[in-house]
Amino acid sequence: MKNIIIIGSGTAGLAAANYLSSKNFNVTVLDKGKYPGGRISTRRGKDFIFNHGAQFFTAKSNEFKKICNRAVNDNVLVNWVDSKKNKFIGNPDMREFSLWLSKNLSIYQDTVVERLEYNDQFTVYTDNKKFICDGLIITAPSSQTASLIKNLDQNICKLIEKVEYFPCWCVMLSIKDFSLKKFNIDEKSIFSWIVSENNKIKNQLNYNCLTIHTNEKFSLENLDKTKEFTLDKIVQEFTKIYQVKMQDIIYKNIHRWRYAKVKKPFPQEESKISKKIPFGIAGDWCPPSQDKHYNGNGQRVEDAYLSGIECSKSLIKHYFN
Ligand SMILES: Cc1cc2nc3c(=O)[nH]c(=O)nc-3n(C[C@H](O)[C@H](O)[C@H](O)COP(=O)(O)OP(=O)(O)OC[C@H]3O[C@@H](n4cnc5c(N)ncnc54)[C@H](O)[C@@H]3O)c2cc1C
Repeated sequence: MKNIIIIGSGTAGLAAANYLSSKNFNVTVLDKGKYPGGRISTRRGKDFIFNHGAQFFTAKSNEFKKICNRAVNDNVLVNWVDSKKNKFIGNPDMREFSLWLSKNLSIYQDTVVERLEYNDQFTVYTDNKKFICDGLIITAPSSQTASLIKNLDQNICKLIEKVEYFPCWCVMLSIKDFSLKKFNIDEKSIFSWIVSENNKIKNQLNYNCLTIHTNEKFSLENLDKTKEFTLDKIVQEFTKIYQVKMQDIIYKNIHRWRYAKVKKPFPQEESKISKKIPFGIAGDWCPPSQDKHYNGNGQRVEDAYLSGIECSKSLIKHYFN
């Protein structure tokens, strides 16, 4: 049985891991985060839930529809009834979907991959352990992937340099005595999206939990500012527009996504499999090239899922048939 290591337990990594496991590979997933899911991410506390990465997703391709329908049957995904489009949300929160995709997989979380070497087999050096494998799939965002493979494949590295992302600052606020649940965003504001988590699924939250994303312009301009400074600036702006009293804010926190939305994806026509050694790249920035029903632009959970499947199929075809 061949051993495959997948770097990243985001949607692309989990899709690849499940596919390869179903084809009788011995798969191990390594991820530096605390929980599986990557940019599908939830912060849970006694009085709050914030889905501070992807808030929902849609399914257009048959392949992704199939997995979403299975997740709906298992009650870890539900339709967001409030929305007109067919949007899926995690039940009770987004992390649940990733946990569901992770079951039966061998995953090491809190494990940072620092270096890769190839000499008939791959050696994967992490911050606490060394792994050996026959094949590898890397699903980290583009620049993190490039730095890991720079000594393995210069051709892919050069193509990765063209990939660009928009960042996003995300603020999480719990507010008492504030009932607004739907927000119309003024184009001139610094916000791109504000959602009340209480408006998604019936829950027992005592306070109004808001997840606030700032727009591309604000996020870029403030990318390298400190968290304290940026949180303060966003909260000031929010309280001013929506007339919230500072003393009613029970909880506040901020997260910076350096790689939020893909601006320029990896060229669709280029191979995501190395022509030299058995590894491939996947992730939302590597939208699939072969799906007849769906042409993604690399910005969504569905792109990540499909790219993980496509990369696994190509890896088998090129190296393990
Ligand atoms: C704020 C925000 C809002 C969004 N909203 C939506 C939405 O509404 N709908 C939608 O469809 N999409 C949305 N997206 C996009 C969606 O979240 C992503 O497209 C998708 O989750 C990407 O999955 P991925 O597997 O490609 O990457 P990721 O989820 O980023 O997974 C990559 C994984 O690699 C790991 N990693 C990186 N480097 C290393 C290393 N050296 N060692 C070990 N592990 C490593 C990371 O920890 C991470 O878990 C949003 C994204 C953000 C940030």
